[in-house]
Amino acid sequence: MDCRNQRAKVRAERIKKNGGSHKNAEWKSLLASSPTCAVCGRSWAVIPPRPDPRYKHPWTKGHKTPIYHGGSDDISNIQAECYECNFRKNAGALSRSPVGPAKPAHKLKKENNMPATQERISR
Ligand SMILES: [Zn+2]
Repeated sequence: MDCRNQRAKVRAERIKKNGGSHKNAEWKSLLASSPTCAVCGRSWAVIPPRPDPRYKHPWTKGHKTPIYHGGSDDISNIQAECYECNFRKNAGALSRSPVGPAKPAHKLKKENNMPATQERISR
């Protein structure tokens, strides 16, 4: 989609303007010392898999001060966040909602307790 590319371009320019940079190795070591999401504090193991199977990990690279608000891309402004926190934060960035501790995960769990699919369909 064109608008996605447009957004990515705008973002890349912001990052450039805000300054700062980090190496992939720095991110890797930060991640290695982050057993949990920096925002909600859940350990990676309990975070549900991402809806898009192309992404194999629940963690994402998050900016403590969002790029949108002038945050730099320096490693000191980066933290490991689960995708749920990161995406929620980005969605709220425009209205400048405070980035506080996240609400406990939505009640997605329920489905997992269901017996095999068969039971639900056959009637
Ligand atoms: Zn989180």
